[in-house]
Amino acid sequence: MPDKMQVATLANDDAVGEYVPVASFHDDGFSVAEEVADAHQHHHHHHHHGAPILRAVVETAPVLPKDKLVWYNIVTLTLWHIGALYAIRLICAGRVASSVSALGVALWWASGLGITAGAHRLWAHKSYSAKLELRVFLAALNSMAFQGSIHEWARDHRTHHKGSDTTADPHNMGRGFFFAHMGWVCVRKHPDVFALGRKIPMDDLEADAVVAWQKRHYLLSVLAMCYVAPALLGAWLQGGPDGAWAGFWVAGVLRHVWVLHMTWLVNSAAHMWGDKPYDPESKPSENLLVSIGAIGEGWHNYHHKFPSDYAAGEYDVTQGSYNPTKLFIDCCAALGLVTDRKRQKRSTLAGLRVKNARLASQRGDLTCKQLRADDSLLRTLFDTRGRGAAVLVENMAQLVCFGTSSENFLQ
Ligand SMILES: [Zn+2]
Ligand SMILES: [Zn+2]
Repeated sequence: MPDKMQVATLANDDAVGEYVPVASFHDDGFSVAEEVADAHQHHHHHHHHGAPILRAVVETAPVLPKDKLVWYNIVTLTLWHIGALYAIRLICAGRVASSVSALGVALWWASGLGITAGAHRLWAHKSYSAKLELRVFLAALNSMAFQGSIHEWARDHRTHHKGSDTTADPHNMGRGFFFAHMGWVCVRKHPDVFALGRKIPMDDLEADAVVAWQKRHYLLSVLAMCYVAPALLGAWLQGGPDGAWAGFWVAGVLRHVWVLHMTWLVNSAAHMWGDKPYDPESKPSENLLVSIGAIGEGWHNYHHKFPSDYAAGEYDVTQGSYNPTKLFIDCCAALGLVTDRKRQKRSTLAGLRVKNARLASQRGDLTCKQLRADDSLLRTLFDTRGRGAAVLVENMAQLVCFGTSSENFLQ
């Protein structure tokens, strides 16, 4: 990291590296307190589950000073939510054409792809390669989502994977649902997050001209994509200033706030609720509802276990699993815009799931969710002709038997 940034960081001590609006303008928070984490790392060298050192840190973390609130972000988030409520009022008052409401849904999915297919699977994880045209397109959609620049988003996310569910996790689930969801945006990052984030290699993204351009012109690109484009499309669909007004509030502001929450649910709900067929010891979980909201990003137990898999889930739409982001990437591949899609070997997965289900059953805490992970049991329970139908039934079963035990399930 250039010295210039560190100076800027220290000068803006209150408001750097915190997330959406602030960090986008100031960047780059990772320069403080690495000594804290270093000190802990010297004392603890456990090796398990991929993030051994950090797990040690969380056990011995000293009592920290009270969280420093980042008022800029709190006020901005509050205003956005008031704006979203106003948009809902407009809809209820009949002042929004159905075409503009449909536009809001379309831009939910479109801007969502800017996060899921773009910032997440392409840039943060490098799980596939994309041609320049597609990278420009995804960067534009990413600006429409207004979740911080790709560079910043990817750095936070790589930190999340490295320090998952420890004090070095930007949205550490150990601090509760609200913190993992949106509280983390409202307070200054934990010193361990800064420390780990500073060690995350970002050279690959610094070498990407599209990422660099979006970072440099972030505010401008957000204004154009998140607000002006929805207003223009609204004017075109509904007509006149009323259409622009409706487009701005519904397909701009309300859609933006909605997508923020759908993304945050991956960090909150999908780190709390759902089954864990791939890594039962971790918090990330397989969550259908989150997948629906975040267009295929709710298969989170799988994703944390195999972060380089471009599908971010074991199954896809052809197997009855909701994963439109994978479908999008596959379509781009068919058009020649995508190459080098990385995928975990299927044969290793079935064995892993069955092993974990058997272990759970031996421990006596086999839930219906883990039971579903056992292919042979599934096939007996549901006389299905193909894996696809079985997965569809599995997903429906997840809704039905959420939280019930296998005994209840089998009765
Ligand atoms: Zn996660
Ligand atoms: Zn990820």
